[in-house]
Amino acid sequence: MEDLSKLCIHTLTTKPWDIEYAAEQYARAGVGGISVWQQYLNGRNPVQIGKMLSDYGLEVPALVRGGFFPSTDRSKRDLAVEENKKMLETAAALGADMLVLVCGADPGQALETSRSQIREGIEQLITLASECRVKLAIEPLHPMYADTRSAVNTLEQANDMAEAIQSDWVGVAIDVYHLWWDPHLETEIIRCGKNNNIFAFHICDWMSPTADMLNDRGLMGEGCIPVRTIRSWVENAGFNGFNEVEIFSDRLWASDQHQFLEKIIHAYKHNS
Ligand code: ZN
Repeated sequence: MEDLSKLCIHTLTTKPWDIEYAAEQYARAGVGGISVWQQYLNGRNPVQIGKMLSDYGLEVPALVRGGFFPSTDRSKRDLAVEENKKMLETAAALGADMLVLVCGADPGQALETSRSQIREGIEQLITLASECRVKLAIEPLHPMYADTRSAVNTLEQANDMAEAIQSDWVGVAIDVYHLWWDPHLETEIIRCGKNNNIFAFHICDWMSPTADMLNDRGLMGEGCIPVRTIRSWVENAGFNGFNEVEIFSDRLWASDQHQFLEKIIHAYKHNS
């Protein structure tokens, strides 16, 4: 894949760079898109940042990340909905196509209860999402995060939820890191595509052994995920959006970020 127009990088991938520098470097390298983690907007005006990104020719597939709906405490659930509404407005100001949802979980209650609270939370956002013209992407997370980060752990569960909510504004973000192990992945990707629910495709690799549950992701080709095979499934299911590189890695963050960006592009061309 020599063409980089469908390559997007998440700002958290090059964690040490601020958004201004990251945008300049991505654009200079020919990268087509940038997905913005909310902390990179601290102290900044999202309209101005959106203008800067657009001036660099960068598209903004996503603002990351909303969600975290479930709680045993009703007032915390209401607060989460309010915070997500603010994020939808920020995403619109930035010019992002979608808000990625890390849906949340509360270990003090059953996963089923958390899932129904996630659905209730998302349903309260749909009107504003349509007004803002910002899509909501449910991102299923690997089951090792089912205690606190997400009660949605398989693509099947995300498909079930998106189909039950049945809104053009609600779909799914498919991340190879979270889903590569699932024997039903290809079938569920086909189902997701048939329902027009594939909103995003996130790529990285699974290091073996994995040294840290959160911050030891690898470059595509460094680990054991068949990224190219999964990408072919997603594309065969009708997805033609960005391939979003989302790598959290203490090891790679500690390295020279310019060399890291070159490695990302090499891994994208040869192992994705
Ligand atoms: Zn992701």
